Amino acid sequence: MSKLIKVLKLESGNSQRGANQKRSRALVAGGAGFLGSHLCERLLRDGYDVVALDNFHTGKRYNLNVLLRNPRFTCIEHDIVDALPLGLQFDEIYNLACPASPPHYQEDPIHTFKTSVLGSLNLLELARQNNAKIFQASTSEVYGDPFVHPQPESYFGNVNTHGPRSCYDEGKRSAETLFFDYSRTYGLDVRVARIFNTYGRRMQPDDGRVVSNFIVQALRGEDLTVYGSGLQTRSFCYADDLIEGFVRLMNAPSAPKHPVNLGNPGEFTIMELATLVVDHTNSRSKIVHRPLPVDDPRQRKPDISFARDNLGWEPKISLSQGLAHTVDYFDTLLYGSKLVKGA
Ligand code: NAD
Ligand code: UDP
Repeated sequence: MSKLIKVLKLESGNSQRGANQKRSRALVAGGAGFLGSHLCERLLRDGYDVVALDNFHTGKRYNLNVLLRNPRFTCIEHDIVDALPLGLQFDEIYNLACPASPPHYQEDPIHTFKTSVLGSLNLLELARQNNAKIFQASTSEVYGDPFVHPQPESYFGNVNTHGPRSCYDEGKRSAETLFFDYSRTYGLDVRVARIFNTYGRRMQPDDGRVVSNFIVQALRGEDLTVYGSGLQTRSFCYADDLIEGFVRLMNAPSAPKHPVNLGNPGEFTIMELATLVVDHTNSRSKIVHRPLPVDDPRQRKPDISFARDNLGWEPKISLSQGLAHTVDYFDTLLYGSKLVKGA
């Protein structure tokens, strides 16, 4: 059952555009989440009417507090696995709905898989009915534990089909299949981004992914939990850089015929990340080791040549700069004040 959280004023008169010019309408599924709320903010700034659709599994209402004051924004509480509310009309659809953190997507793996497959089908049908462009938030997880490094889009990956991560990895792989089949079968304009680990403001303290875990642990003076040796690598992109990539991919004059990697090619071991977080928080926390989760990929680094050459996109914010912003965010969230470095 869907619940309208705020009614969109479709004919609101505060447009910057001419009286006869219709504003574009965008749907952001997963709009109350970490990346979804940043995307909604960006689209509103770019002049769209924006509807967020979210089941609030990992997304939070307070991510939308500021946006809900905007007359061009509304939010519908709905699970994309279920039939979508009738009468929705959009020019552009972004599908970000899916829990992204391993502990969250493993809580109800069957629902996670349904979200990627049935949820994508529902949104693709909506795009077809509306003749709308549709964007899919895919993931570097489609590369699994990769044998090719860095990973170009042409690499097919090395993914376990039946492990605890498979509900997410295989769900996202199936969704990619559906998106490109809708493109081939119905001529739908689809844009698929393979997103590498992204972090920043509006992550939840209990999200469970490594950057938020380490920052929250360091700010609370708790031990930083490194899984395994910590020699596994990831490439961390700051959210603002990624959102710019989303918008460029969606607005590219022609749709790329394949998924596009979006991520920061800087590659760090998890131990290096832990040390950086301790430095940035000036924390006395120690680093402790915990067992490595099953199928945890050993290395991850995007080859972003396609995005660089065709979208003119590359990340601008270094890990150090991004961590500084994110530490400030969590410090304010947890303690209501900016961290005084050195105190
Ligand atoms: P997030 O968990 O903060 O956001 C996901 C949002 O989707 C939440 O608001 C959640 O409530 C909503 N949602 C989940 N299942 C839903 C359903 N069935 N129906 C409606 N809403 C649902 O995660 P995020 O980091 O913002 O990720 C957003 C998208 O980007 C996800 O699809 C994720 O797979 C993808 N992605 C993110 C990263 C990253 O590093 N942040 C990396 C790769 C891919
Ligand atoms: N990780 C860790 N400590 C934590 C959380 C995660 O060492 O508290 C590790 C995890 O095992 C993985 C890496 O950090 O090797 C990235 O984990 P995350 O869950 O953020 O993303 P993903 O594994 O999906 O890339």
